[in-house]
Amino acid sequence: MSRLTNDVAVVTGAGSGIGRASAERLANEGASVVVADIDVEGGAETVEAIESEGGTATFVEVDVTDEDDVRKMVDAAVETYGGLDIAHNNAGIEGDGAPLVEQSAEGWEEVLGINLTGVFLGMKYEIPAMVEGDGGAIVNTSSIAGLSGDGPAPYVASKHGVVGLTRQAAVEYGDEGVRVNAVCPGVVRTPMVERSLEEHPEAVDQITEEQPLGRMAQPEEIADAVVWLASSEASFVNGHPLPVEGGLLAR
Ligand code: NAD
Repeated sequence: MSRLTNDVAVVTGAGSGIGRASAERLANEGASVVVADIDVEGGAETVEAIESEGGTATFVEVDVTDEDDVRKMVDAAVETYGGLDIAHNNAGIEGDGAPLVEQSAEGWEEVLGINLTGVFLGMKYEIPAMVEGDGGAIVNTSSIAGLSGDGPAPYVASKHGVVGLTRQAAVEYGDEGVRVNAVCPGVVRTPMVERSLEEHPEAVDQITEEQPLGRMAQPEEIADAVVWLASSEASFVNGHPLPVEGGLLAR
């Protein structure tokens, strides 16, 4: 018996990387998935991959910073599949890698807008839809940069913000049947990371050497943690940032 049969899930940033892996894993476990992304082509590829495995998915074009789009994304889950049980708020960008004093206010706003406001808007519409049904589980994508100062300032601030928002939502809505947790990946080989490795090929060896497991993660390894947090196996786990970083933080 699949773990998520009859569940309905939305995944933002599902057109690539971690979001795509999460959408595929949720569908493999039996959930019907709303694949949400600003990238129409990437989203369509994810739906195709899910359907080719016999899963159920539909694409919705969403800019997570646009409140109207986010409301329509949740409406699509309810109208297409009859409710909402699981949400993975995952869309994010890295932004400019420059030191803090060289960051622009526009760049700051862009990163905070997608990575943090996008998660806030997602939960604002997902929680009422879940409360309307039998409750639900939300997983927000933070990062190890949400737990330590290890990255560009806007990115680190946005990911720390996701952890705070996760804790507050967990406290406010636990007694209405909604659990809220975050996943904090280390370095994952997704298009986001491949783009920066293309710019700095010399970084590959250094990053690999730093890893206690001697390698970077694959997106599916983060998706497995998302599925666990979303499933009833994590029924008493609420308000936590879960590091999935191969032991990096143990150093
Ligand atoms: P990715 O670039 O492969 O995928 C990100 C997806 O988000 C893309 O499909 C993109 O189109 C979408 N997106 C961007 N802006 C959007 C918007 N405004 N509205 C809707 N969708 C939008 O990146 P990834 O590595 O899979 O990253 C996914 C999440 O994981 C991000 O939040 C990222 O910060 C986080 N993360 C990644 C790593 C890593 O090493 N790759 C580590 C820690 C955390």
